[in-house]
Amino acid sequence: MAQDPDPNNCPICSGSPADGVKVETANVPSFFQVKCPQCGVYLWYEYDDIFASWRWLDPILKCALSCATRQSFEAKQVVQITETTALQLAEAHLNTRVSENQERLLREIAKKAVRPHVEVPFSSKSDFTLIDCYSREEFLWHFESLKGQGLIAFTLTASDEVVARLTTTGWNKVQPLVRPTGIPGRCFVAMWFSEDTRAAYESGISPALSDAGFTPIRIDRKEHNNEIPDEIIAEIRNCQFMVADFTGQSAGVYYEAGFAMGLGRPVIWCCRQDEISARKLHFDTNHKNHIGWETPEDLRERLYRRIRATILEQG
Ligand SMILES: [Zn+2]
Repeated sequence: MAQDPDPNNCPICSGSPADGVKVETANVPSFFQVKCPQCGVYLWYEYDDIFASWRWLDPILKCALSCATRQSFEAKQVVQITETTALQLAEAHLNTRVSENQERLLREIAKKAVRPHVEVPFSSKSDFTLIDCYSREEFLWHFESLKGQGLIAFTLTASDEVVARLTTTGWNKVQPLVRPTGIPGRCFVAMWFSEDTRAAYESGISPALSDAGFTPIRIDRKEHNNEIPDEIIAEIRNCQFMVADFTGQSAGVYYEAGFAMGLGRPVIWCCRQDEISARKLHFDTNHKNHIGWETPEDLRERLYRRIRATILEQG
């Protein structure tokens, strides 16, 4: 590993400007914004200092972090990397099962293709982080394996692109998605996304889920659009359980929690205590045992305990 990292390179994967990497000053003070084909777009705190300690970390953690930043970016969330969040984010991408990665890859192909006959390209060099995959070789191994199972057809082009298409069997595997129990380890987070609730997610819900060994799935929704996008419906079907925070009383959160309950997924109910005290919760659900939290740290601790008591011990 380089002793003096080039400040123009991606601090996670070491990709260079020739690979399409751009490092710029971010709008957030003390952060650089990194745009990287492999790692997506993310903010990096005080580049030089973190790198000094980061250098000592296992390269596997860097691979996992690259998956974390890329997948967050694809979910329209730009994460801020500090020494603390780097480890938390990476940990959720360290022990993904082969079967889960392959199902995710099938869904990525389906999502890009939309229609059944369409072939879609993936860059073998930079798209392996769309799933929890650490190298080009591992990515190609998954494509070979899915082909061997009769789920996809693909070719590798001279420019190192994988051009893939689902077979009928592949579509049949992706489309039903009605699982009695969801994908183990995935938790859908339904909440009102705003500056007011950012800390509740970043310092409360997200670390509580990581601590308990779950991957938070969070999709920012445009509040002015009344429709619940297909992507949200699909992710709720795929989740093992849901954390719903009703702070802000967003109609979308009520809808999503109702949908999850209809599918039989456990829902953990949360709301900031001042809104519970002001009787803001809807009368249809206000009898539920809400975690009435005061601070993000309080939420983190109590949510973690609730997950242990209701999800882990009964799972
Ligand atoms: Zn990178």
